[in-house]
Amino acid sequence: MDAKQGHGCSVGARHSGIAVPIVDLRAPLPEQLRVAIAAGAELVELRVDLIGDARAAAGLLAAHPDQPFIVTLRRADQGGAWTGGEGERLALLREMRPRRGYVDVELASWDAWRRAAADEPATSVTQKTIASHHDLRGTPADLDGLFAALHATGAGAVKAVFTPRDATDALRILAALRASARRRPTIALGMGAAGLATRVLARKFGALLTFAALDPQAASAPGQPTIAELRSLYRWDTITPATAVYGVVGWPIEHSRSPHVHNAGFEAGRDDAVYLPLPVAPAQADFDAFMDYVSGHAWLDVRGLSVTLPHKEHALRWLEARAHDVSDAARRSGSVNTLTRTPAGWRGDDTDGAGAVAALLTDADLARRGLRGVHAAILGAGGAARAVAAALTDAGARVTIFNRDAARAAALAARLGGASATWEARAGCDADILVNCTPVGMHPQIDEAPIDLAAGSAFAVVLDTVYNPRETRLLREARRSGRRVISGVDMFINQAGAQQRLWLNRKIDAGVLRRALDASA
Ligand code: NAP
Repeated sequence: MDAKQGHGCSVGARHSGIAVPIVDLRAPLPEQLRVAIAAGAELVELRVDLIGDARAAAGLLAAHPDQPFIVTLRRADQGGAWTGGEGERLALLREMRPRRGYVDVELASWDAWRRAAADEPATSVTQKTIASHHDLRGTPADLDGLFAALHATGAGAVKAVFTPRDATDALRILAALRASARRRPTIALGMGAAGLATRVLARKFGALLTFAALDPQAASAPGQPTIAELRSLYRWDTITPATAVYGVVGWPIEHSRSPHVHNAGFEAGRDDAVYLPLPVAPAQADFDAFMDYVSGHAWLDVRGLSVTLPHKEHALRWLEARAHDVSDAARRSGSVNTLTRTPAGWRGDDTDGAGAVAALLTDADLARRGLRGVHAAILGAGGAARAVAAALTDAGARVTIFNRDAARAAALAARLGGASATWEARAGCDADILVNCTPVGMHPQIDEAPIDLAAGSAFAVVLDTVYNPRETRLLREARRSGRRVISGVDMFINQAGAQQRLWLNRKIDAGVLRRALDASA
């Protein structure tokens, strides 16, 4: 599309643009415009309903006739702040049409908009208008029907914004975007954390634009990334239709640092790939629905996934139920933290256990002695404990599992041929190595340690799998009492590097991943 097509805005001719919303008068509007353009905005959306000063907005439009704008006066029932009359709103929108760009008119107001401008040729009204729809409650089953109604307006561009429940809805929105964008400039986005994939992958699937805020306070919708996040963390400028998609599946997942680490790895390796947080609701059925959708839509180009709480066991069950490949390590630990798309289907691996063993072997004494015959005490019997215990057993170590729920500890020990003991017995254990596989020490329990290390001379080496904070209370106390400590950061970097090796089949620079994790703190 280009200006000759009538809407007067060339953004989207070569690639999708970034539209930065201006939502208030924190700084004079010309100053905000200047900052937005300097940050990389190709369009600026003037949210006149939020700015609350139509005269100032009109002044900005008049002073910058060559700048593409979107002028929006959103009604409260569509998520905006306009509470005045509809006639007044449409008249104001008509007056404020930018020379380049669009006004945004909701589908529900479309007929009134056409009537309000009945004295003008139909195309001059429709071509510079975005027909929009905002669903503040969910993502309807019939997206095709909604897009058909938007297209039927004849608008120069169409926009639909939804409230996805989780990443499966986000992928459905991307499917609708892909189909619509072939016919007409299209914006299709999901709000909230679950919508992030629609915002970042807008460019891959040919959207007219995506929205990004100058800073978190200036976001015009929940879940809108900042322009800095979009361009530096998700490498927006490098995304093409061929870009491979990776991500981390969990619930909740917004605070995961895996996107920082993996995207930095892709950047260093010059991979045409992007890595996203993909929140998938917590039940097995939710995970199955997500994976079945991903598997059934190869054009999404999802090539690999990290899997975290609560889906590591769900991933194993999904792979087994659909007869996909499962590595020995994953089968033994009973959990899958890595999914890789292969020509034959999917393969599940576990890189947590090997990541922990590699971290332990950074200790010079353990590296020299090896792990064979070493006695390791493991606190916890969840996913991390299963992976670490299986890998240590495979390396020849003798493991004892301590867990609050003693039956879980006993079941894990029985599976691996190790021992278990009550949670209360942990402090009296005389193992060489202690591995904390509980979340104690992590937010919100950062002031707690899972064991009192003051007594006894056991546990010469302590590994805490908690990696945020980097130095937990357990590690501080272990160091203070003369023990050698290994941070969960080492395990995290090892497992992330192993995931990238599985996906990309090349050497990974762990230093790059580590620096990215440090910088994201
Ligand atoms: P999980 O499957 O939910 O298991 C949690 C385990 O911790 C359970 O055995 C649970 O005992 C125990 N637990 C929870 N709260 C406790 C408390 N207040 N006191 C004592 N025990 C408690 O979780 P997970 O996936 O194994 O994750 C555990 C930790 O490992 C997390 O902190 C995670 O960040 C870390 N991790 C780190 C990496 C890395 O790369 N560094 C990788 C994976 C996991 P019950 O069975 O009695 O409930």
